[in-house]
Amino acid sequence: MFDITKAETAAEIVAGFEQTFGAIFDRMKWAEEEIASAQARHPELADKIYHSFSLLSGDEAASRMSMEAVYRAHAREILERVAAGEDTRPGTAVEVVIGLLAAAERAPLSHEGFGLCARLWIAAGLPDHDDFAGSLGHIEALHSDRIDREEADARRACRNDTRRLARIECDGWHHGERVPCSYAPADAPAGATAAA
Ligand SMILES: [Zn+2]
Repeated sequence: MFDITKAETAAEIVAGFEQTFGAIFDRMKWAEEEIASAQARHPELADKIYHSFSLLSGDEAASRMSMEAVYRAHAREILERVAAGEDTRPGTAVEVVIGLLAAAERAPLSHEGFGLCARLWIAAGLPDHDDFAGSLGHIEALHSDRIDREEADARRACRNDTRRLARIECDGWHHGERVPCSYAPADAPAGATAAA
């Protein structure tokens, strides 16, 4: 017997899958592109940046970032930290903004909260919204010390302890191509395929 409710549920499930997988593939593409851009900015660290892909894909917060500009800003900040040898665990500007906007749905943000949101929005290079840039100057002038403290707290609160590079192991292949990666063992290169 045809059960309309079940059919609708199945359709919803399929639509949900399509959305989820579509979103995952979009994010993978953006991540690859941000890695390529970061490698172009820091050619001397290209291998380390290549092996930072897992930092961009693993966590919950990143998996909710379906807006391209937002995800790319998040990825770019983490890759810049990799390049600078900085801690990749604290919350990114985008993660803090997402947290603040979620909080703002429950209760109005304080001046400092709004100022922090505007500061990080601009730092992430997101499109100006409600003249954030204009209002920020005014709030920064009055509360910049307190916003600094709020920022440090917020980045700590959004921290992701698993987001750190483990020891990099490389078999000398990137994207299906033999490469002279600095993390590949010295005896791995070309010989293996040439001899086969
Ligand atoms: Zn490698």
